[in-house]
Amino acid sequence: MIRTRFAPSPTGYLHVGGLRTALYNYLYAKKNDGTFILRIEDTDQKRYVEGATEHLMEMMNWAGLNYDEGPDKEGKFGPYIQSERTETYRKYAQELLDKKAAYRCFCTQERLDEMRLNQEKQKKAPMYDRHCLYLTEEEVQKKLDEGAPFVIRQKVPSSEVVRFDDKIRGKVSFAGNTIDDQVLIKSDGFPTYHLANVVDDHLMEVTHVIRGEEWLPSTPKHILLYKAFGWQHPEFAHIPLLLNKDRSKLSKRQGDVSVEEYIKKGYSKEAIINFIAFLGWHPGGAEENEIFTLEDLSSQFTLEKVHKAGAIFDIEKLEWFNWQWNRKRYHEKLSAIAKEIDPKVLIENPKKGEFIYTFDDKKNQSAFSRKKAETLLEICKDYIDEKYKNDEDILNKTLVTVEEKILRNPKEINENISFYFGIGEYEKELLTHEKMKVDFEMAKTALEKSLEVLEDLDDFDSEGKIQEVLLKLVEKLGVKNGQILWPIRSALTGLQFSPGVFEIISVLGKEETLNRIKKGLSKLENQ
Ligand code: GLU
Repeated sequence: MIRTRFAPSPTGYLHVGGLRTALYNYLYAKKNDGTFILRIEDTDQKRYVEGATEHLMEMMNWAGLNYDEGPDKEGKFGPYIQSERTETYRKYAQELLDKKAAYRCFCTQERLDEMRLNQEKQKKAPMYDRHCLYLTEEEVQKKLDEGAPFVIRQKVPSSEVVRFDDKIRGKVSFAGNTIDDQVLIKSDGFPTYHLANVVDDHLMEVTHVIRGEEWLPSTPKHILLYKAFGWQHPEFAHIPLLLNKDRSKLSKRQGDVSVEEYIKKGYSKEAIINFIAFLGWHPGGAEENEIFTLEDLSSQFTLEKVHKAGAIFDIEKLEWFNWQWNRKRYHEKLSAIAKEIDPKVLIENPKKGEFIYTFDDKKNQSAFSRKKAETLLEICKDYIDEKYKNDEDILNKTLVTVEEKILRNPKEINENISFYFGIGEYEKELLTHEKMKVDFEMAKTALEKSLEVLEDLDDFDSEGKIQEVLLKLVEKLGVKNGQILWPIRSALTGLQFSPGVFEIISVLGKEETLNRIKKGLSKLENQ
């Protein structure tokens, strides 16, 4: 039976790398019908943060990473908080002392500092020089009788080479003489990470230790401890480091590293989990779809597909996942609405993420359009400026034209729709376009001629009609579409980028459209 654990030190926030470790442990357990444990590693009392453990449990719940055993769950291996297990660690430290696999070290801080300094001068790696390993039993007893403070150190067999098979990294080996005699019990009687981690993984019958690559150098120390106790060590899988775009180690300096920050910024849970899962893992093969629910991930996750190389933490990719998830939820909702309006609706999906809903009955189509606008409004209503909310009818019409923009980032709604409610100042050069071969002369002709045909048109509700008259004009003048449509679009929006010109005209209506074209023309005439 597979048993994995997430063993965070409570810091007050959840690091994105921590969420990935938790996720991979959860997924590996779920995939294999195993058990997932949450264990709080809070033996460093200096780092104690009030409420941090509760916060971690909340974050696990938020992510849906339901642990089977943990501080607030039943389980026969508890307590699951290390600060409540100190007696256990002391007992096992004593066992190591008895087995001569550990020794007491009475070195003062001054001595250790001096030793370090000398090592630095000689360009040697900082390592304890084993001064206390050579104390006689009498000398040790004397110091104990004097009440001298001490730590307990691991006695690393320096002639040994520690080898193990990492499930991700493959064969790994460390020479014993490069491994420091690690402190196992500190002078305050609390264990260090190394001892507590090994004892707990053994007692909690953890079968797979899946953790960040930064712990790889600790693993030989752990393996030696297992060996000293006469225990079998679990399988190890070290997942790749998270890197900034410039391939440096992910750091606070280059952006946020806490999951809470990304939630605050409005990224959805599903997108965050999906993004995090793909940091160092990919289903591979012909699998093109990258949109995975937690259930999908649970059924597909394998350690074999975890990469060895560092994983780039690319915010643009998170944005992309967020957009895809917004789209997915939106179209799931729209499909349900469409089927409720007419069970016979034709729903087509010509391209990934793109949907067309066709109804036989025009009335149904317009009922659907209304619902669609309502659904879009629901997504971005918290961000819409009050001044745009006055005319609901116009607002509804505008939202549909910026549908993808809303799904991509609902927070940018105001900048995307503001031009409908009033046009700002713009340079007359905007009406021209070198690549499209629109010079001032062409722009002027386009605006004059389109003004004429649009003045003659009455039905501004129908995008089709608008398109028809403008494309006829293009044909009549024998020019390219862009040569007519670009100047109109920029005169109507004052922007470089905007929705399609026919839908803009239909939303603005006749009067406003003609006014804006005239305004554009006057810019050209004044030159
Ligand atoms: N407490 C360690 C941490 O903060 C756990 C490392 C491990 O999984 O062994 O990440």
